[in-house]
Amino acid sequence: MHRKVIAPSVLAASLLLVIPASAASSVQGAPGIGDPYYPASGNSGYDVSHYDLRLQYQPKTDLLEGTATLLTTAKQDLSRFNLDFGLKVSEIRVNGAKAKFATSGEHELEVTPDRPLKKDTPASVVVKYSGKPSEFKIDGWSAWQRTPDGGIAAQEPDSAVWWFPSNDHPLDKATFDISVNVPDGTQAISNGVLQSQSSRLGWTRYNWRSNKPQATYLATLAIGKFDVTTGQTASGLPILNAYSKDLGDNAGAARASVERTGEVAEWLEGVFGPYPFNALGGYVPNVPSSFALETQTRPFYSPKQFANGANVSVVVHELAHQWYGDSVSVDGWKDIWINEGFARYSQWLWSEKEGEGTAQELADWAYGLRAADDPFWQVKPGDPGPENQFHGAVYDRGAIALQALRNEVGDETFFKILKGWPTERAYGNAKVGDFVRYAEKVSNKPLAQLFETWLYTPGKPAFTPPAAAAKTARSLQAPAAKPVEPKSWKKIAETNTIHEH
Ligand SMILES: [Zn+2]
Repeated sequence: MHRKVIAPSVLAASLLLVIPASAASSVQGAPGIGDPYYPASGNSGYDVSHYDLRLQYQPKTDLLEGTATLLTTAKQDLSRFNLDFGLKVSEIRVNGAKAKFATSGEHELEVTPDRPLKKDTPASVVVKYSGKPSEFKIDGWSAWQRTPDGGIAAQEPDSAVWWFPSNDHPLDKATFDISVNVPDGTQAISNGVLQSQSSRLGWTRYNWRSNKPQATYLATLAIGKFDVTTGQTASGLPILNAYSKDLGDNAGAARASVERTGEVAEWLEGVFGPYPFNALGGYVPNVPSSFALETQTRPFYSPKQFANGANVSVVVHELAHQWYGDSVSVDGWKDIWINEGFARYSQWLWSEKEGEGTAQELADWAYGLRAADDPFWQVKPGDPGPENQFHGAVYDRGAIALQALRNEVGDETFFKILKGWPTERAYGNAKVGDFVRYAEKVSNKPLAQLFETWLYTPGKPAFTPPAAAAKTARSLQAPAAKPVEPKSWKKIAETNTIHEH
């Protein structure tokens, strides 16, 4: 899944190494995959196809012990390569032989195999480690959330470094087997299908499998005491939801929302096409945070998402990501609109279906809500910058952009695009520009200007009614009368803490 992206500075460094090393024809991999937003994320030189994580966690002490086996393929001859990881490593073996290793930067693990890796040749990497994830901090902060009965790994864009070594960037997706041993009476929830569980000597092991390519930040681990519900969709996909036993007053609203996962997924299949993974569900641990995250097959929801009663809209958002974000992932983090613009727009479509305000009404309201001098309009959803990656503009202006597209190409073509894209790009990565070209291809219309206006031009766009919309009077234009707040607006706004820490 990994397409090599090399930043100019990294390229220069590689060339310097390549020339004198040409006789030895072996070089060091770079400590970043080449993402300008997060230069240390991921690594260059190899691709991971599978992670096998064998873990044990003790909630009382927060001690996580693990053996991670990575199946990799070198993309070049490699005398050294990096992994991203924060816990303490005791041993690394590459192709069975002990490797030398050292740490550097915030989360780099530099691995020097006994014998250099050969280009296009598979290599196994086994890392043994232990540590307390809550004690590993970057800028004074840990993504690992300890709870009264366990711990949770769910965060974007980084969470993997707190619990397993990886090539930590969405460009390098892989399948996952995650096996977790926890004290009897405690459960371990993760991605995909629970293949089996067994108890021995006071410990219970849970074996999870996610059998389609998965980005590292979409791998999740939840340890604690949960009530679990199971079911299946009309097409036979297994559903597994988990709720912490101490959600307090939010318990009812959490279940009244997440138990609708199968229903929401069936509706989304009608909009986006076949569900791309082997399982469905969601989990609500007893964490103090307020965000939700589209962890693959099994989204994470903070209890606070349900503080004002059931909120199905957040379930719609996170499940929409299974197509837009998880199956089709960002190429670089600047392409975040590929995820969030569509997840937000799916909430608008759900509102439209429920008769609580059409997407057009929500777009009009979102447009009218903020004056032209509001800093909101300075954020470019198509390249918001790392500091604004999860800014409200990526969501709301990003969704208005899709309404503008709908008005320009008409409903039939628009929904053809929405359904075609997740198939066209299934299990891969995409840039914003790739979507623009795809929409142009399907609609047979030039759309560069429309997306330039809505995704890349700072300032509040002035409406010039698009041609198609002018005919049908459905233009996204400053309405004659002041728009009224759609019924669904507040529920959707409550989900705005979705990606806040
Ligand atoms: Zn989202």
